[in-house]
Amino acid sequence: MSRECPVCHHTMEAGQIRHVQAWHDRVVVFENVPAEVCAHCGEVLFTGAVVDKLNSLLWSTTPATRTIEAPVYDLSAA
Ligand SMILES: [Zn+2]
Repeated sequence: MSRECPVCHHTMEAGQIRHVQAWHDRVVVFENVPAEVCAHCGEVLFTGAVVDKLNSLLWSTTPATRTIEAPVYDLSAA
């Protein structure tokens, strides 16, 4: 059931990845997300069910597994 990478056409392999989603002042990290990953170019594909799960977690009030600090760099000030 391996799909072909839409970018470079190599075979994608099932794996678990870290996915970081950011908007406005909120950054959310998802770990061990099931995905298909291209070992050649790094392209990542999620199934629709996984996307739904990520979205529902983003908007849920479920406590996070853990919380990390995120450094912020402003290049306009550099
Ligand atoms: Zn690829």
